[in-house]
Amino acid sequence: MRVAVVGGGVVGLSTAVGLVDRDVEVAVYERGTPMGERSAGETRIFRLAHAYPELVDLAARARPAFEAWSGRAGAPLVDHVGTVVSGDDAGARAAAMAAAGADHEVVEPGSPVLRLPGAVVGPALVDPAGGVIRVDRVAAFLTGAVGDRVRRAHVHGIEETADGVRIRAGDTVDVVDAVVICAGAGTSALAATVGLYTPPLLEHHVRFSFPVRAGGPFQSWITSATYQHASTPGTWTVGAQVTRAAVAWEVGPEAAENASRAVVTAYVAENLPAIEPRVVGRLYCTHDPDLGDGFRFLRQGRILAVYGGNLFKFAPVLGTMLARAVVDGDTPEATGQLRPVP
Ligand SMILES: Cc1cc2nc3c(=O)[nH]c(=O)nc-3n(C[C@H](O)[C@H](O)[C@H](O)COP(=O)(O)OP(=O)(O)OC[C@H]3O[C@@H](n4cnc5c(N)ncnc54)[C@H](O)[C@@H]3O)c2cc1C
Repeated sequence: MRVAVVGGGVVGLSTAVGLVDRDVEVAVYERGTPMGERSAGETRIFRLAHAYPELVDLAARARPAFEAWSGRAGAPLVDHVGTVVSGDDAGARAAAMAAAGADHEVVEPGSPVLRLPGAVVGPALVDPAGGVIRVDRVAAFLTGAVGDRVRRAHVHGIEETADGVRIRAGDTVDVVDAVVICAGAGTSALAATVGLYTPPLLEHHVRFSFPVRAGGPFQSWITSATYQHASTPGTWTVGAQVTRAAVAWEVGPEAAENASRAVVTAYVAENLPAIEPRVVGRLYCTHDPDLGDGFRFLRQGRILAVYGGNLFKFAPVLGTMLARAVVDGDTPEATGQLRPVP
């Protein structure tokens, strides 16, 4: 069986590793640098704390899967420092963790269990299995495991024929037995060529890194309006909710970055005494503001597409699910349904 995976981000490379593990012949088509778009950067938050039990469960399955990868990589890919959720969403996530049987604790402000660079307001949910995904190490592991199966080419068309599925990339046409579209921001346009609808809405998002003044290691932290976690040694990364108008596609990346920088820097100055409000790094990406957590799979014949939000923490599980579905010719179970956070 020959399979084409379109997109060399964390989802595409995880799928390719899952296929290689099943002895399937695979080629990954990547228009730029593998792990260079939404999967770029040094770290991400790992957490079991989701608003739905099935997502808690999936993240719980991802934890040993990351550990298995860590064994293969020869280095830990997740630092289990814990994740804290405070603010509006903490109650719903605590309820979902309880329903999924996941270890968790709800604590009051000032609890010695909290190791954060600022104070929480109201009760906080502590997710002890959470922490920080070492994106740099994941990238090194995945690119090493996939090796020379990556083809640097922009796929501009996919077409199913009686002989197989045609992939148009650059000036060439390849014919394969199955295709998985994991193209991140490119998924919508490509999936549309085979009649699959995925949400096309994009907005700009930029997160910023700041020097740690004192303390640490801190837990990863999600508040009502921010997410924050350790980045490179001695730095703390913060992303904040900015008004939709300020980061809308039409304003352009520069204006969106300036607006985000002002909001995030003011937040750090006012709320995080352990962090110096001086930007030393930034990471830009596009995302769909309506997706939140979770993912969805779509199939058209021998073409499978996946889209979703906050996918990094699910990557090893997603890769296994997609690889199995390609080989079996079915659509993975819809455990990771995208639904609005209550
Ligand atoms: C700032 C930021 C913070 C985040 N925080 C978290 C977090 O804390 N926890 C978490 O779990 N997730 C987080 N996420 C989300 C997570 O990083 C993404 O969901 C995940 O990396 C998406 O991976 P992907 O493989 O789907 O997409 P990408 O990494 O974007 O990969 C898609 C690839 O497809 C390629 N491509 C697109 N179109 C084509 C084409 N036509 N032909 C060939 N190649 C093509 C692109 O070049 C790209 O490399 C965050 C994301 C960002 C940017």
